[in-house]
Amino acid sequence: MSGHEQFADDLALYALDALAGEERVSLEQHLAGCTSCHSELQRLRGDMALLALSAGGPRPPQRARQRLLNAIAKEPRLSVRAAKPQAWWAVVPWVIAAAAMVMVVLLIRHDGELEKTVRALEQQVAQQDVEVQQARDVVATFTAPEAQQVTLVAAKTPPQPQGKTFYLQDKGRLIFLANNLPPLPPEKIYELWLIPKTGAPIAAGLFRPDAHGSATVVNPPLPTGVEAKTFAVTLEPGSGPHDAPRGSAVMAGTGE
Ligand SMILES: [Zn+2]
Repeated sequence: MSGHEQFADDLALYALDALAGEERVSLEQHLAGCTSCHSELQRLRGDMALLALSAGGPRPPQRARQRLLNAIAKEPRLSVRAAKPQAWWAVVPWVIAAAAMVMVVLLIRHDGELEKTVRALEQQVAQQDVEVQQARDVVATFTAPEAQQVTLVAAKTPPQPQGKTFYLQDKGRLIFLANNLPPLPPEKIYELWLIPKTGAPIAAGLFRPDAHGSATVVNPPLPTGVEAKTFAVTLEPGSGPHDAPRGSAVMAGTGE
């Protein structure tokens, strides 16, 4: 049995129905026993069918076919055989391969650009995630129920001590309310005084402010009918005596 290669050109001609005589018989004998050449023939016929379909035109007239066959017949076939050039159809896979390569290159390039775009978008998204998280943290701190809120203010003079008296002269009844009193120094006590229009100040009660600086004196023992000119508070030694003001004045108020 002869090698396949020598039938390559004959296969193409056979597919074109342009092989005759001894060569046709020889090829048909080979085809009967060679599956690879047979399948190559099928491929060639398939290719030609595709070409005919893609051309879309009518079948070439009989004269054109004959002209082609004549031209083929004039070719120096022996020398062609000797040179064993590649049949035209042998090039087809390479053309397809080259086209495929071009497609692959184009796809790879396109893919690279897509990848760049995706990376840029990913960076943008990451940056936005960071900013959104920061905004969420701020809002969460404002709205958290467990957030400790403290108001800070600049240092200023503490509130001034204040006192108010409610005095019923006829009954000798007196209520005294005070606030914003500074804490007592050691061994000291506050003392309230009723200072009459005439005569010496009358002691009207000792008192200590509470933790908030508030204090009350309710109905200290007083004579009745004394017309008050002024009420005053002094800071006195804790151990006394407390019958007359000796310490420093804390506050004083004169009625109308
Ligand atoms: Zn073969």
